Amino acid sequence: MIQYKPTTEVDFVVIGSGAAGGIMAKELAIAGFSVVVLEQGGPGAYGHEQDYNKDELLNMYPPKPADRLMSDPVRQPNTFRRNDKEEAVRGTSRYGCVLGGGTVTYGGSSWRHLPYEFNEATHEGAIAGTGFADWPVTYEEMEPYYTKAEWEIGISGLRVDSPLFAPMSKPYPVPPLPMKSSGALLKVAAAKLGLTVVPNVAAIISQPYQGRSACIGCGMCSGFGCQVKARSSSAVTMIPIAEKTGRCEIRTYSYVREISVDNNGRVTGAIYFDAQYREVFQKSKAVVLSANGLESPRLLLLSKSARYPDGLANANGVVGKYLMSGNVVDASGLFEHPLNEFKGIVSGAAILDYVPSDRSEASMAAGA
Ligand SMILES: Cc1cc2nc3c(=O)[nH]c(=O)nc-3n(C[C@H](O)[C@H](O)[C@H](O)COP(=O)(O)OP(=O)(O)OC[C@H]3O[C@@H](n4cnc5c(N)ncnc54)[C@H](O)[C@@H]3O)c2cc1C
Ligand code: SF4
Repeated sequence: MIQYKPTTEVDFVVIGSGAAGGIMAKELAIAGFSVVVLEQGGPGAYGHEQDYNKDELLNMYPPKPADRLMSDPVRQPNTFRRNDKEEAVRGTSRYGCVLGGGTVTYGGSSWRHLPYEFNEATHEGAIAGTGFADWPVTYEEMEPYYTKAEWEIGISGLRVDSPLFAPMSKPYPVPPLPMKSSGALLKVAAAKLGLTVVPNVAAIISQPYQGRSACIGCGMCSGFGCQVKARSSSAVTMIPIAEKTGRCEIRTYSYVREISVDNNGRVTGAIYFDAQYREVFQKSKAVVLSANGLESPRLLLLSKSARYPDGLANANGVVGKYLMSGNVVDASGLFEHPLNEFKGIVSGAAILDYVPSDRSEASMAAGA
């Protein structure tokens, strides 16, 4: 595998190797660029996935703390506040912290956004105190890229002909995973309420695909690495392709603390701590920052210079603001018969009847 000297100016440094970083590394390397990927986490079981641990305690607390698959909110705290006047408090947020980032341990639900969600602000109107805005691209512009990603990554699902399902130019490459008992029960109950249940769309393959095995329904899924490479993580899809080009070097245990710029404001590379906690400067013509929704803004704010005293890309002062987390609501129930829910992937079914708010619907009906 190629190894660049830190003093060699590579075309790109990619910070983070997760969903975004893995794709960037692969696209840039196959386009002929020299790439160094800097990932703070360890390699996990990259290349020997059968060794992923299914012991809950060892998975959470491996002998070497740096080998945790997810970040440690104690060692790597993220702090949050609702406005400039509040004192920031530690949060408990965790994210994937290993080669492949969150995609190594995630549940894999991989739904497309609906077309109206791209210009929701136009339909919903302003919401005070937020940075609510339309996306600068439309669903129609994104559609070919959704298709490309689904086929390259390996997504299972069923294309459904419904206004509540994003229109697709091509079906999913592999059929949906089997619905679990909970999905079957949900379907019966939802039908009574007039709701539609469909199989989940997941970055987990239900059939052998591109040399990888199908899911065996082991049940130790979200939070664990997949031992048969069925979860289509960056580590088993994008990164091996990037490495095989011979132009992409992956450096794990490499924690970036600053993106450097010269006096003209042009990026010169990235400063990071290596596995031995030595500070290293990797020279590069450009940097791709793909360290996730928490760490990317943090790194921009840490990258202060005489030219950019408030951090990089922060001329408008909004970096690190308007963070929106994904919300989860859960409910538990007791059933008369065992459902064997420990088997299979986390989410086997979904209700398709998510609809725009009344405000948004009225606006769309008026043709806005
Ligand atoms: C348990 C779990 C379940 C999830 N389930 C789903 C799901 O079902 N569907 C879904 O769509 N999403 C899910 N997610 C969220 C999903 O994993 C993330 O949205 C996605 O991985 C984000 O991609 P990313 O490339 O922005 O960042 P990540 O995948 O988080 O990758 C960022 C990488 O950057 C590295 N990094 C950060 N800071 C630095 C630094 N300073 N120097 C070097 N490297 C750094 C991190 O270690 C990480 O590997 C889940 C997440 C978790 C943790
Ligand atoms: S349930 Fe399937 S995708 Fe999840 S870890 Fe087990 S084999 Fe892999």
